[in-house]
Amino acid sequence: MKLLQERIRRDGIVKDGNVLKVDNFLNHQMDIELFNEMGKEFKRLFEVNRIDKILTIEASGIGIACIVAQYFNVPVVFAKKSQSINIDGEVYATKIESFTHKKVYDVIVSKKYISPGEHILIIDDFLANGCAVAGLIDIIQNAGAIVEGVGIAVEKGFQQGGQLLRDKGVRVESLAIIESMDAAAGTIEFR
Ligand code: 5GP
Repeated sequence: MKLLQERIRRDGIVKDGNVLKVDNFLNHQMDIELFNEMGKEFKRLFEVNRIDKILTIEASGIGIACIVAQYFNVPVVFAKKSQSINIDGEVYATKIESFTHKKVYDVIVSKKYISPGEHILIIDDFLANGCAVAGLIDIIQNAGAIVEGVGIAVEKGFQQGGQLLRDKGVRVESLAIIESMDAAAGTIEFR
């Protein structure tokens, strides 16, 4: 998506450790006009699919997911990062290693909010090594629901997540795929 690529070029800051900072329009301040364009694009990409619900993960996926959901007229559920794992059987739980915080989180979704047979679209801001999306897929499959696809704003194509998911047959649609980026030179190349 050209608009998103242009915005990343203009306002993205490449940090050491393969981290792209997009706080100016995506991860801290949010450009809702841009989010709306992303929502339209995800709707176009998944137009023919049955989508009953959107699943994302707190915190940075929530904003985009809510805007995207308006184009599908479906609810958004966000997986919560939990300190203590709930053992009373009321939740689906999985573990996700955070790329940016280098920490393993227990992540939960109440069993009330994903039902067997529901068709789910996963939405997130970034795809890096794929841990977050793999955890969400795990929760959906445990619930007996169906992963309809994955919509990502920014995929870092030089990390393995996208490849791993596509190799498993998961449909991944990323609006911008970064081929390479260089912190010292401040350069970003798109696929
Ligand atoms: P993964 O689980 O695919 O390794 O990482 C995806 C998650 O880590 C996303 O939910 C996102 O919040 C965060 N993330 C990964 N890489 C970046 C990055 O370069 N910049 C930002 N801002 N977040 C990232």
